[in-house]
Amino acid sequence: MTMRSSFDILNLVRQTILKLRPYSSARDEYSGSASVFMDANENPFNAPLNRYPDPGQMELKKKISAIRGQPPENIFLGNGSDEGIDLLFRVLCDPGRDNVITVEPTYGMYGVCAQINGVERRNVHLNRDFSLDANAVIEAVDEHTKIIFLCSPNNPTSNSMEREAMIKIIDGVDCMVVIDEAYIDFSTGKGMLSLLQEKGNLIVLQTLSKAWGLAGIRLGILFAHPVLVGYLTNVKYPYNINSLTIKEALKGLDDQDQRQRWISEIIEERSRMAETIAILPYVNVVYPSDANFLLVKVDDPLMVYRFLMGRGIIIRDRSSAPLCEGCIRITVGTKKENNLLMDALKMIKP
Ligand code: PMP
Repeated sequence: MTMRSSFDILNLVRQTILKLRPYSSARDEYSGSASVFMDANENPFNAPLNRYPDPGQMELKKKISAIRGQPPENIFLGNGSDEGIDLLFRVLCDPGRDNVITVEPTYGMYGVCAQINGVERRNVHLNRDFSLDANAVIEAVDEHTKIIFLCSPNNPTSNSMEREAMIKIIDGVDCMVVIDEAYIDFSTGKGMLSLLQEKGNLIVLQTLSKAWGLAGIRLGILFAHPVLVGYLTNVKYPYNINSLTIKEALKGLDDQDQRQRWISEIIEERSRMAETIAILPYVNVVYPSDANFLLVKVDDPLMVYRFLMGRGIIIRDRSSAPLCEGCIRITVGTKKENNLLMDALKMIKP
């Protein structure tokens, strides 16, 4: 992995974390093959759930490694992407001193985690067409900036960020840059993972919650430099990924054909919905989407939200987000659900 001479992850990690002697669990200390386990105070009955899961989640990391083409040392697994986001704050940001940059409007958890961790969040806005202003992001950086959060495709605007603009930021700063690719599988773009080995300050977040259809098991994947993965691992709860999640994830990851069929159907439905919704008289814009949802600007978002709720259909009113005046966000459902939504939308009289 090549890095700019000025960049060293160790300069970004909090002193407290550099000095931490992490908890060592029974299953960390022993990693051979044995048949009698009397090291972890488990109940000998009720196999296999009586046993603690592998704290390093090696089998799962190897499977993800084979699918995504990155070595297991570059992979950290969390209880959803949200755990990875929170741990980045705890490993990198000193409360009351450091700051992070978010590009609004975007996914809310970056800001929530900043607040919980007592870390300043600096907001830069996307351009009015939802494109990324790389210079504005770079200008907001100072010597206490530890993380820049970019989301591509972005929630709630549904567009992908321009690759060149993201690379300009990654190459132009000495802090970590997170590219949140929760929705990457619905996009025509190939994502930033292929740059991981050459950009030491790049972090890519992915999740099984969207295209893989496994939001219920909570599994987020963070790809980063092995040194950073090591510190995240020292800080996480020892058994943060439970046995049931590991089992279901291994099963889900085996069925790539199923996932591809879901993605194709969702993308097809996304076009069909966009076309139908765009011609409704009270709809002003259906923004082009690279994700599994549509951002739609309407005359009266609260009225549309309430009307749909009255018919048992829940969407998201995003009209209070910056640059999203008048906007609602609609997730693509099954064909049947999408028909119900569109039939209801057609009933609204402007
Ligand atoms: N990133 C983005 C951009 C999201 O929209 C979401 C969920 N809505 C997440 C991350 C959270 O993913 P997870 O379920 O893996 O915590």
